Amino acid sequence: MTDYQSLGVRPLINACATMTKFGGSLMPPEVLAAMNEAAKAFVDLQQLQSRVGERIAELTRNEAAYVTSGAAAGIMLASAAAVLYKQPDALKHFPKIAAFKDEAILFRSQRNPYDYAIHQTGIKLIEIESDPTALRAAISERSACVFWFARGVDSADDISLEETIAIAAERDIPVIVDAAAQLPPVENLWRFTEMGAALALFSGGKDLRGPQSSGLMLGRRDLIDSIRPISNPNHGLGRPLKVGKEEMMGALAAVERYVKLDHAARERYCEETVQLFCAALDPLPGVRAERAYPNEAGQPLPRCRVTIDAAVIGKSANDIVQAFFDHDPAIAVAPDSDASFYLNPMTLNPGEEFTVRAACLNLLRS
Ligand SMILES: *Cc1c(COP(=O)(O)O)cnc(C)c1O
Repeated sequence: MTDYQSLGVRPLINACATMTKFGGSLMPPEVLAAMNEAAKAFVDLQQLQSRVGERIAELTRNEAAYVTSGAAAGIMLASAAAVLYKQPDALKHFPKIAAFKDEAILFRSQRNPYDYAIHQTGIKLIEIESDPTALRAAISERSACVFWFARGVDSADDISLEETIAIAAERDIPVIVDAAAQLPPVENLWRFTEMGAALALFSGGKDLRGPQSSGLMLGRRDLIDSIRPISNPNHGLGRPLKVGKEEMMGALAAVERYVKLDHAARERYCEETVQLFCAALDPLPGVRAERAYPNEAGQPLPRCRVTIDAAVIGKSANDIVQAFFDHDPAIAVAPDSDASFYLNPMTLNPGEEFTVRAACLNLLRS
């Protein structure tokens, strides 16, 4: 049997988040079944990408959709689309595109490691303050797009996405939203594009629970069509970002599942699990356990913040995080500060909350 155990790799209980480094998320049976089925026959891959895209667009109330090999790949392709949709001759020039509109505007407050994917296309990053005056001043003949990194319900900028879209629209500049981790809520699949964003990018391997190496590009048909000539099986910038037939079908099955999922029941499970953790841990000497909301990505789901008094417990929060990892079974929790960490219910399999609670009681007893 080809499995983790035969390699000496320990499976983890994930009480941290939909982290790429821990495998993203787990695919439900309907996603696995779709991938399995897809693996049994050859197809015309371009035809499959367009049909899957049409279906995902319908399900997510978008004009068009495209399956990428992740949201980071989506950021790269969306940046390329912003150059290509009006300048198809740029096709063969990436990443040397100085002869074309080659600037992406982004806000200093939203800079994050994923914006490197814009840079990889050869597009120049124009970093500005997040306010309307700075945005108006930055838009020029060189502008290809404006990027918006959505951070969920607690985001604080001096400019809103609505205003960003309105200002960019005055000059016909597309706004691209990195919404990789902005599910739930499910409505975000159409909210950003209905607001007027040209494209919104999502991870397939986070809460959607599709293949880890998948993502969605949702939005305008003209932009999405512009990247087909440089995406696999065609050659160019997007060729190394290959998406297989199994990932396309897995991503579609994940979207089909997600749009009809009982999100209220899921939220209830998360709230109840946080209460379970709080009730068990808060009474322990030197421990405070409380509900924290929203979670690290600004998603409207709760976590349990555990704060410890190292003098009472005899260990720092970092020692505890490590002890969870070394525990049998291994448990990934989310580091926070020297004195605190988080327990996140969103990536637990039902039943695992009791294993996590038992491990906590073990490790936090002074
Ligand atoms: C996870 C994440 C990405 C990358 O998504 P992948 O699907 O792993 O490529 C990009 N941007 C943000 C904000 C993310 O949280």
